[in-house]
Amino acid sequence: MTEVTDVIVVGGGLAGLVAATEIAGAGKRVIVVDQEGEQSLGGQAFWSFGGLFLVDSPEQRRLGIKDSCDLALQDWMGTAGFDRDDDLWPKRWAEAYVAFAAGEKRDWLRAMGHRIFPVVGWAERGGYDAMGHGNSVPRFHVTWGTGPGIVEPFERRAREAQRNGRLTFKFRHRVDTLVMTNGAVEGVSGSILEPDAVERGKSSSRKVIGDFTLRAQAVIVASGGIGGNHDMVRQNWPKRLGEPPKFMISGVPEHVDGRMIGITEAAGARLINRDRMWHYVEGIRNWNPIWPRHGIRILPGPSSMWFDATGKRLPAPLFPGSDTLGQLEYIMGTGHDYSWFILTQSIIKKEFALSGSEQNPDLTGKSWRLTIKRATNKGAPAPVEAFKKNGADFIVRDNLADLVNAMNALSGDNLLKHDHIKAQIEARDREITNPYVKDAQVMNLHNARRYIGDKLIRTAKPHRILDPDHGPLIAVKLNILTRKTLGGFETDLDSRVFGSNGEIIRGLYAAGEAAGFGGGGVHGYRSLEGTFLGGCLFSGRNAGRAAAKAAG
Ligand SMILES: Cc1cc2nc3c(=O)[nH]c(=O)nc-3n(C[C@H](O)[C@H](O)[C@H](O)COP(=O)(O)OP(=O)(O)OC[C@H]3O[C@@H](n4cnc5c(N)ncnc54)[C@H](O)[C@@H]3O)c2cc1C
Repeated sequence: MTEVTDVIVVGGGLAGLVAATEIAGAGKRVIVVDQEGEQSLGGQAFWSFGGLFLVDSPEQRRLGIKDSCDLALQDWMGTAGFDRDDDLWPKRWAEAYVAFAAGEKRDWLRAMGHRIFPVVGWAERGGYDAMGHGNSVPRFHVTWGTGPGIVEPFERRAREAQRNGRLTFKFRHRVDTLVMTNGAVEGVSGSILEPDAVERGKSSSRKVIGDFTLRAQAVIVASGGIGGNHDMVRQNWPKRLGEPPKFMISGVPEHVDGRMIGITEAAGARLINRDRMWHYVEGIRNWNPIWPRHGIRILPGPSSMWFDATGKRLPAPLFPGSDTLGQLEYIMGTGHDYSWFILTQSIIKKEFALSGSEQNPDLTGKSWRLTIKRATNKGAPAPVEAFKKNGADFIVRDNLADLVNAMNALSGDNLLKHDHIKAQIEARDREITNPYVKDAQVMNLHNARRYIGDKLIRTAKPHRILDPDHGPLIAVKLNILTRKTLGGFETDLDSRVFGSNGEIIRGLYAAGEAAGFGGGGVHGYRSLEGTFLGGCLFSGRNAGRAAAKAAG
């Protein structure tokens, strides 16, 4: 029997949950279909760090940060570098999204109980000119409670709607086709997967035990991106970033499989900017993995020295935390798919944060007592110390010669020469005592420490890397970590999807990562960070509101 409802949402990640709660809130009936089990509700957002891009917030103002919508838009446009005909709708989405981040976003979340950690982070700092890539000011607002803290208000609203009969979840239901009549989408059909009690985030069984068809006046595709599917990442890899890496680790669970992208395209939807993606270069293999090839991104502070596989320091302004894709392009240009940080115990203690809710029990557990230890502790946070001890990519030694030997042994490539690395570190160290330096990374350290947030918990006091008082020395082998899909289905501001003939496909909407976080690529080529969860909130909300309205 075919079930009929007002709107179907494909995907119970953040974008799908936001859309579904808006639909139920508008008094319509909605079914949320997800291939995973109930235990994985919330998708990637649950695992996220919960960082949100906000503009001119009270948190920023309290820290003396002067931000504005104009400055944020300047940064966004300089970062996105929109340069294609296909960027018409993405650019409109960017303008609308920056206005949302400078306007309603914080109050809308706050009214649902969402709270923010008071120290604002400074991600993607750029280093070019004022119109180039990067955040001119700190804007990365971490959710108090990290990923689960951003999912919670929407899950709560969804459960309420479920209780009052407006919202139905269909877990372990995998959509295989969009049902079309006369060019309009009228439903979905697919396979029912066998129940599987695997823990959240682990790969689940794909054994089919039945099929289903659902009909509705509108279908919202909120199925996420492609980061868990390395074949697809390699297929879409842009030439401008060199050859696709031979070795990659996954920053997302396996359900981020990109399969629904092909299904939606097959129904005539127009996918744009598929060559734009956001992968990190500071990936470390998780010693305690949850999903296959599980990697964690280091959110680095600005002090670690960064060397390519041959031992050459990365050029200015490619310092930790400055320009993710610039670094990726440089690294892939070396012909090797890894690079190295060299740092001290003083740096790791203050500057290493690991992206992921499970790697930040203090913030995720909303414990002030544990969080304050970030500023006062002798060692690094416990999850970082655990990586230092158990992580396959970490080397800790008391002197540089031993460190370089171990680095060569770990890579197996033997490309590093002790004298070459020593000369570069000593040259950098000579600049430390001089307040008027020419080393741009050291200049950045002084600049960073003028911001109270960085001084408190993010930037170590400048010191010589080879000063034994700050040791031991640490090297970290950094891998390419897949994460976000920046291209997606082209949509108007109501999240209605365009077909390959340029006309809106009646009944079809897209939100979240599947829509390139709005319009088919709101970020253009690059991101200012914290913009992905925010993109799910904004595009999910627009899609939900528009689909509810269209459903009469
Ligand atoms: C470790 C980590 C840290 C992050 N940190 C941040 C951060 O600090 N700030 C930030 O802005 N972003 C961050 N992100 C990114 C952000 O979390 C994601 O981009 C975002 O949550 C994607 O949400 P989504 O709803 O579009 O897709 P998803 O969360 O991927 O959800 C899609 C859902 O659709 C389901 N699905 C897919 N195909 C089908 C099908 N055919 N049938 C039925 N169901 C299907 C999937 O099972 C899944 O549940 C992070 C991500 C990770 C993994």
